[in-house]
Order: sequence, then C-alpha cells, then structure tokens
Amino acid sequence: MKRTSFDAIVVGAGAAGMMCASVAAQRGARVLLNDHYHKLGEKIRISGGGRCNFTNIHTRPENFLSQNPHYCRSALARYTPNDFIKLVESHNIAYHEKTLGQLFCDDSASAIIRMLKAECDKGAVEWRMPASVKSIEHSGMHFRVQLEGELLESRALVIATGGLSVPKIGATPFGYQIAEQFGLKMVPPKPALVPLAFPPEELERFGDLSGVSLDAVTSCAGGQFREAILLTHRGLSGPAILQISSYWQAAGAKEPIHLNVLPDAAAIATIMRGRNSKVQFHNLLAETMPRRFAESWCNAMRIDQPANQFNETAFHRALDDLQDWKVRPSGTLGYNKAEVTLGGVDTRGLSSKTMAATHMPNLYFVGEVVDVTGHLGGFNFQWAWASGHAAGCAIAEAKQ
Ligand SMILES: Cc1cc2nc3c(=O)[nH]c(=O)nc-3n(C[C@H](O)[C@H](O)[C@H](O)COP(=O)(O)OP(=O)(O)OC[C@H]3O[C@@H](n4cnc5c(N)ncnc54)[C@H](O)[C@@H]3O)c2cc1C
Repeated sequence: MKRTSFDAIVVGAGAAGMMCASVAAQRGARVLLNDHYHKLGEKIRISGGGRCNFTNIHTRPENFLSQNPHYCRSALARYTPNDFIKLVESHNIAYHEKTLGQLFCDDSASAIIRMLKAECDKGAVEWRMPASVKSIEHSGMHFRVQLEGELLESRALVIATGGLSVPKIGATPFGYQIAEQFGLKMVPPKPALVPLAFPPEELERFGDLSGVSLDAVTSCAGGQFREAILLTHRGLSGPAILQISSYWQAAGAKEPIHLNVLPDAAAIATIMRGRNSKVQFHNLLAETMPRRFAESWCNAMRIDQPANQFNETAFHRALDDLQDWKVRPSGTLGYNKAEVTLGGVDTRGLSSKTMAATHMPNLYFVGEVVDVTGHLGGFNFQWAWASGHAAGCAIAEAKQ
C-alpha cells in the first residue's frame, strides 16, 4: 500500500526539487516528490540548447542578482560546482567546458535528468506525478497536502516549483501563492535573461538586420558583459543582451542600455588607419564588424561619407557613438522567451543555511522560486543544486 505520511513532501520535481529529495532521502528521510506535469525535468531537457549547461566552474556570489545579495553565499559555499561535477562523473556522464567556465553534457541533457532520477531512486523517494496539489494546510505539527483523491501528510514541505518562464512546459506561480499563504513576502517576479524589444525608431533603423551578430560590451545599472549580441526582427538578443536584461529589469526597466559595438582596441586602430583615406565610412567599419550592420548604422546616423571628409570632431564623435549606443528597450519578449524569473520569494524571510522560512522552520523554498537569479552560463542550475542540497541536508538533520 502506498504510504501517505512522510518526513518531507517536495512540490516540483525539477532541478532543485530532485536534488533536495534525493539528498534528504539518501540521508534517511522518507520523502515524496510531486509534480503536476506529465514529463520529468523538462527545463533541464531544453536547457543549454539540449546539452544542459549544468554548472559554471567560476561560480561566485557575484554571479547572482537578489534584493538580498549575501543570501546565496552559504549554500553556494557548501555545495560547489566541484561537488556537482563529482556527481556527474560518478554517473559516467561525459562533459566539456564550452567557454567562460560553462560545463555542458557532451551528448544530451537527458543524462542529467536520468542521473537525478537515479539519485532519487537510491533514496527510495516516492513519486506522485503527474498530480496536482489542490490545497496545502498546516495544522499544528504537520503539513496536509491534498492531491486529487489523496490526502498526504508531512513534517516538512519543500516548494521547488521554479519560476514563470516557458509556461507551456509546466511553469506556474504556485510557489509564490504558497509563500503568500504562509505569510512570506514576494519580490515582484519579472522575466530575465530575456531578449529585448527595440523601441519603434530603432526597429525602423535596424529591424531588417535579423541574424546579424556582433561582439559587444553591454552595460546597465552596474552590470557589464562582453559577449555576442544578436539583432532580431523584434530587437536584440544574444548572450550579452540576455545578461544585461536582468540588470535592466532589476533597475526598473527605465534606464537605457549602453552598447559598445566597437569594444576592440585593434578594431579601432584599423579604423584609425583609414582616417585620411577616401574610403566610405561604412567600408572602414566593415573591416571590423558585419557589413550589413555597418551600412545600416551609417545610414541611420547619416555619416556615410569618405573618411577624409569628416572633420576631427565628427570623426571621433562617430567612433564615440559606436562605443556608446544607448537603447531604451520598449520591453522584453516575456516569459515565453525568458530563461529565468527575476524576483520571487523574498529571501529576507528565509534562512540562508536551511532555505526554510524563519518563522516556520519546516517550510522550505529552493531553486528559482526564490529571489536569487543567476547570470547566464550554468549559474542558475548551480543555485538549484546548492539550495536543494542545503534544504535536503537540513530536512535529514531535523529528523535525527
Ligand atoms: C530555455 C531555457 C534554457 C536554460 N538553460 C540553462 C542552462 O543551460 N544552464 C542553467 O544554469 N540554467 C538554464 N536555464 C534555467 C534553469 O532551467 C532553471 O533556473 C532551473 O531549472 C531552475 O530549477 P528549479 O528546480 O527551481 O525549477 P524547474 O527546473 O523549473 O522545476 C520546477 C518544477 O516544478 C513543477 N511545477 C510547477 N508548478 C507546479 C505545481 N503547481 N505543482 C507541482 N509541480 C509544479 C514544474 O513542472 C517543474 O518540473 C534555462 C532555462 C530555460 C527556460
């Protein structure tokens, strides 16, 4: 007969939920893992272009945004990228570093899902999936979790329901609702690591450059990233834009984003060599950046003339403009295109050691549902593993 009473019920069987359940169960807790979606670990499966960028070897607290920036430190220090790498290696999953410390599976992200499932099985975690939670109540010592046709009971409850991005594969605001039900505050959620929409005037100038990619430095509200930007038919995307979108959102989506599309000293030197030539300015630029962008830029700025026809001030202004292109996005492309959610359960009401509510020590929040948002590059999974591990250990310790 199926058990109905547990040490812990974990709602949400994604990255953080499976990590938490397996850690607690392997340390002796009786754990039930619930998910409402019919497929396991869908966000892991689609992550990293299907290869799952499962961690970043350079993970530091500075790679995370939160209203409470120190909150993530303790969990990240106690479960490091190396700890997860050891787990990956113990399951013989081949991986490689792509760039900037980002580790990806050689083959498929599904290997990470199978690994987490096997770790849960090792601890004899029970599953209810797909099954929707109808209500959760706390009565004295226990949580009562009502599923369709079944009432479950547990000492601890872990909310691991993730953020709001990509709703078509199961994202819901359930975790936020439970946080509010039990008196926790919220930092308003917003799409992050998300493409940005051009305002109408920039769309007019650059909207037909879809597919053009440039090396650039993006900066806004204290964030700065040098990677590729990609022009799209609606605006801007690419890693340097996704990264800066989180900072733009965190600062209230009002400030302009600064783009330096001429970040390379060697490229500037190349242009300077042509300073006194009869070469059209867009042809000079095209030696250092995609020709289509150079042409559209010079048209938009009305500066397409031979280099030697600029006076000194105008020539330098033309370079300065390329190094500080200010874009005021009209918005983001929303949760359908966002990789993560900025904001979430306010960590000022949670313990950084256990991930539990300070006023209700058996109620835990792990992973993306809390207000800790990583940079692009494997940091969000590292937070899911580290926070899930911290809560899993705390649940097992509390049982003893
Ligand atoms: C396209 C894409 C690519 C990404 N690539 C990367 C990457 O390469 N590297 C990286 O670090 N991060 C990446 N991320 C972010 C990363 O996937 C998330 O930060 C991470 O999965 C968060 O883990 P989580 O366990 O908190 O939430 P999730 O993994 O989202 O799991 C939440 C689970 O809760 C379930 N759930 C939701 N509501 C309910 C409910 N009401 N009842 C029961 N269950 C519920 C969901 O079905 C889901 O299974 C990517 C995200 C996207 C969208």
